Amino acid sequence: MTLQQNLTAECPPALDLSHLNAEQRAAVEATEGPLLVLAGAGTGKTRVLTTRIAHILNTGRAFPGQILAVTFTNKAAAEMRHRIDAIVGNGTSAGLWLGTFHSVALRILRRHTALIGLPSDFSILDPDDQERVLKQILLERDMDIKRTPPRMFAAIIASWKDKALTPAQAAEIGADRTALKIYQAYQERLLQLGAADFGDLLMHCVTLLSQHPDILADYQRRFRYILVDEYQDTNVAQYLWLKLLAAGSRNICCVGDDDQSIYGWRGAEIENILRFERDFVGAKVVRLEQNYRSTPDILAAASGLIAYNRGRLGKTLHTASRESTPVQVVAVWDERAEAAFIAAEIEALQLARKQRLDTIAILVRAGHQTRALEECFMAEAIPYRIIGGLRFYERLEIRDAIAYLRATFQPQNDLALLRIINVPKRGMGEAGIAKIRAFARERNIPLAAAIPLMAAAGELKGKAKDTLLGLMADFARWREMLTLHSHVEVTETILKESGYLTIWKSEKTPEAQGRLENLEELLAALAGFESLPEFLEHISLVMDGDDKPDEAKVSIMTMHGAKGLEFETVFLAGWEEGLFPSQRAMDEKGGAGLEEERRLAYVGITRARRQ
Ligand code: ATP
Ligand code: MG
Repeated sequence: MTLQQNLTAECPPALDLSHLNAEQRAAVEATEGPLLVLAGAGTGKTRVLTTRIAHILNTGRAFPGQILAVTFTNKAAAEMRHRIDAIVGNGTSAGLWLGTFHSVALRILRRHTALIGLPSDFSILDPDDQERVLKQILLERDMDIKRTPPRMFAAIIASWKDKALTPAQAAEIGADRTALKIYQAYQERLLQLGAADFGDLLMHCVTLLSQHPDILADYQRRFRYILVDEYQDTNVAQYLWLKLLAAGSRNICCVGDDDQSIYGWRGAEIENILRFERDFVGAKVVRLEQNYRSTPDILAAASGLIAYNRGRLGKTLHTASRESTPVQVVAVWDERAEAAFIAAEIEALQLARKQRLDTIAILVRAGHQTRALEECFMAEAIPYRIIGGLRFYERLEIRDAIAYLRATFQPQNDLALLRIINVPKRGMGEAGIAKIRAFARERNIPLAAAIPLMAAAGELKGKAKDTLLGLMADFARWREMLTLHSHVEVTETILKESGYLTIWKSEKTPEAQGRLENLEELLAALAGFESLPEFLEHISLVMDGDDKPDEAKVSIMTMHGAKGLEFETVFLAGWEEGLFPSQRAMDEKGGAGLEEERRLAYVGITRARRQ
């Protein structure tokens, strides 16, 4: 008996595909050979993908373990599992190779670590560790880590890894010599440490598969069907990985929308869509044109906007929906007024339509925008969740800055002092700090009081003594400043003079830029309070949120994080020149940057179903 007959015998009756339109059904049923589903937002691409998996399983074409399905976020992967289980029965999805690119690559790597030179239990470095390793390497080479900070190299190396370029391959394309040397040393060090970074997961996997034909053949046989969601955002490494794996069965189905490509800044290549038909000769292309998500008004707004982009593959969208809810454009004075308007609208929706809060989302361009919204929602007692990120006051740089304020103005606050005593690095070792703590504990006094006493008693010496007394003098000076200057000015001075801002200014990454924006936003928040004590008290109250986990909540997230999701009502906050479209994107990439911003706007608008 063939596998197919064998499976069919035990499988439930054929899947009901009547909930699909003709094109969608064609895409589900064309299981054999390469298939590209190229279609606009809300046309059912993800629905096609999940139904296709269910169909393959149900018709006995493959066991779960022979299907590889990749998506972009853990949230999307979980959603897909959920939908598949709903169609073919609980638990079936467990056997699938379904996950994000990184999680699946990791799963493969773990089985072949020896071939890469890693221990089987290799660890994955987080960005902090990564930076520490790079810093050591730079210092060993007597390089100036102020001028060329470790984070700069981390970003360069990550961009090579996005292209699956090993040091040797990067050399071939004539990369910068210094950066190359650092890259090489970094890779060697990681192997010594028995570790890999995030970018290594795919790159090592590509190397493994290209250098070991037997292993590659094994996976090619294993994965009879490969499915990829959000294909427009794959980078070169992911593309190469897919191409290797799919070369055997050629049963690869990618779904995507060139108009929703929003990760160019992380190495995503729209080119991958364009070359699909070249790489997989005879590929079938299905276009879906009916949108099932949004009202005609929403669709018209999105289509009208994206039409300004050049170099699109071009598609038309229509909807059978007759509902009319014109897209509202509301001009407000500032972000506070904007937050207040949104809060009022949400309350009105709850009253008028009994609309559930979890069907409402507010999408922003930049993380710092959530602050004004959060303040307002807390004041109005509207439950909210920050998806794919932290609440404003929980963010690292905000906590650090607040710790500086507390250490300065609440000299008895040991926790705050400990948090920033070595941020930026002041050469304070764990042992030295432990000694101060012991001294303070014995006498039952705060650390800040212990330091001068220890210095006087000769228990602090050399550099540590100078550093700590210097810091104490800074605190005193900043406290003094408050008598003549506003608390906003003093805070600004503290962030500058402590060297804290320099940490992020010297780092040229989008994350660091975001942190600087958050710090700016913190100053704006401070300006809304009469005094520092009042502000610090406010912080203590809001940080101690009483969160009820299963309560329905409004979602606040970035447009990037909202890819693939849908909500009844969507508020798009902060659409103003410079913020969105982002000035940085336009400065760095000009017209191409603006086009990517426009695609992001298209993603944002098309998340909405009704309003
Ligand atoms: P995006 O580009 O935003 O990722 P998508 O193309 O993946 O969108 P889906 O999320 O799969 O679109 O579908 C959008 C909505 O339309 C979902 O609520 C889905 O259940 C619904 N839908 C899709 N196809 C149909 C159909 N044939 N009949 C009814 N509803 C449908
Ligand atoms: Mg989708």
